[in-house]
Amino acid sequence: ARGLTKVYRMGEVEVPALRGIDLTLERGELVVLLGPSGSGKSTLLNILGGLDAPSGGEVYYLDHKLTGASETELTRFRREHVGFVFQFYNLIPSLTARENVAAVTEIAEAPMRPEEALRRVGLGERLDHFPAQLSGGEQQRVAIARAIAKNPAVLLCDEPTGALDSATGVVVLEALEKVNRELGTLTVLITHNVGIADMADRVIRLSDGRIAEIHRNAAKKPARELSW
Ligand code: ATP
Ligand code: MG
Repeated sequence: ARGLTKVYRMGEVEVPALRGIDLTLERGELVVLLGPSGSGKSTLLNILGGLDAPSGGEVYYLDHKLTGASETELTRFRREHVGFVFQFYNLIPSLTARENVAAVTEIAEAPMRPEEALRRVGLGERLDHFPAQLSGGEQQRVAIARAIAKNPAVLLCDEPTGALDSATGVVVLEALEKVNRELGTLTVLITHNVGIADMADRVIRLSDGRIAEIHRNAAKKPARELSW
């Protein structure tokens, strides 16, 4: 991302959300995004994932410019390369865990098997449970399995533990760390759980729409090859 700005327009009022973000995310890293409420974390994540357009600046994926790309290209970028995990799991209640994941793998280009995705997040014994038969943490792990099952290069997570108690949240964060380590999926994680900072390659703190601090942990993991 180069010089990203975002201004939301609410009728006559302009709300500046990002005020100039320069950021290079590296293959396979686990990046934690911290910052107070309203500092622009979700706005940044949505722009990086091609869900929203910046007001100024540019976003590239590899050498591909996303800013100004057609809606078709953006859709393709999201479908092939990006997995999203949000605070609320948005599982389909009438489908089992396996079927919720299969709904994605059936239309993906190079998916893993739904059973493998669920095993990777520790739900190998919950394949045929419906969402209502799963705990909140388990439902969120189904949502993570669904996001990784298409083998995305990038996983963007906006407060995935926001609806969970802290002990359950740790289990979910550990599942994300394991996925990142085993699959080499570049993971950007917004969380208020600062414990995860130890697991991250980098911790980026936003303040009032700007990067206030970047802290890099010493041990860097190898990453896998990517292609557009
Ligand atoms: P939180 O930790 O509460 O989720 P955040 O860091 O994710 O906060 P953003 O949601 O990115 O913050 O919001 C940044 C600023 O932009 C805030 O001032 C917010 O009120 C404003 N904002 C966000 N989304 C919109 C929108 N759709 N329309 C207008 N203003 C918005
Ligand atoms: Mg937010």
